[in-house]
Amino acid sequence: MLIVMNQKASPSEIEAVVAVIESRGYTARPMPGGERVAICVLHNPGAVEAGPFLGMPGVKEVIPVTHPYKLVSRESQPEDSVIEVGGVKIGNGHMVIIAGPCAIESEEQALTIARKVKQAGAQLFRGGAFKPRTSPYAFQGLGEEGLKILSKVREETGLPVVTEAMDHDVFDMVEEYADVIQIGTRNMQNFTLLRRAGRARKPVVLKRGMSATIEEWLMAAEYIMEGGNTQVILCERGVRTFAHHSRNTLDLSAIPVVRKESHLPIIVDPSHAAGRRDQVIPLSRAAVAVGCHGLMVEVHHEPDKALSDGAQSLYPEQFGSLMQQIEPIFEIFHPLKSQD
Ligand code: PEP
Ligand code: MN
Repeated sequence: MLIVMNQKASPSEIEAVVAVIESRGYTARPMPGGERVAICVLHNPGAVEAGPFLGMPGVKEVIPVTHPYKLVSRESQPEDSVIEVGGVKIGNGHMVIIAGPCAIESEEQALTIARKVKQAGAQLFRGGAFKPRTSPYAFQGLGEEGLKILSKVREETGLPVVTEAMDHDVFDMVEEYADVIQIGTRNMQNFTLLRRAGRARKPVVLKRGMSATIEEWLMAAEYIMEGGNTQVILCERGVRTFAHHSRNTLDLSAIPVVRKESHLPIIVDPSHAAGRRDQVIPLSRAAVAVGCHGLMVEVHHEPDKALSDGAQSLYPEQFGSLMQQIEPIFEIFHPLKSQD
């Protein structure tokens, strides 16, 4: 249930509503909106009676929240969330481009790629220090050394960095170095990790599980928000299907659905969806046209020598071309806000 306060409701009126909610053993979560505060009631086992709240000073209306993902839902926050990372805005008409290699391999590799993607217009740099690999014999990432390289990249280029926290053990360390913490597809329902991400005070990119429904994905985001971290960016990265012409199948239909259901920003990772670089630019064009708030793209200056995901990594020149191709598409569609 959502208790919407009047525009002029005083802090003490808000506190009084919170106190009544808590006296019943529920959790009250005030959600500051553009114009007014709404208070979301959480942890109520059954329906909550609206009557007692309607009579309280400062209360405008009481709205039932019908979705199981309460904080993530547009019912509890009609306006799009905008998340800011180092001066870069993500969500609600702002387009963010995140680019970089799959894995951080060396300082030279990371800096070379970072300079090139920055020059082409990327706003954030990506690169894994801890890699979730299918084979235990494959390159697992440089670990903390990789995180230190990411700090150098940020220092030298000014680009905020996105990197994956693969498990609970390394979360503290990743949180210290990263500007945005990534939770990968294989961990979308790692509930311990989601709860830890909920306690983080940095934005989280939550990738869709490769076999997850949209409801499961939004419930995973709810875990993070329920923990108190409102800065969640959803990332569609393709799902498993019978197709073998691509590594996964990019579910572009998820974008309008998520935008309707949730106020959270949603970006698209065409690289892991495609698994091969020839599909990355066309899928990026389509993703922008369908209304995503950004892209996360793998780029490598020597993809043939890459230690991870070389086949799907764009050459820097191709990334430059991608940037040029998506710009006019974005110009046509970027006025589209939440309700369009
Ligand atoms: C990645 O971003 O390199 C990655 C491992 O992504 P995903 O979790 O989507 O496979
Ligand atoms: Mn990768």
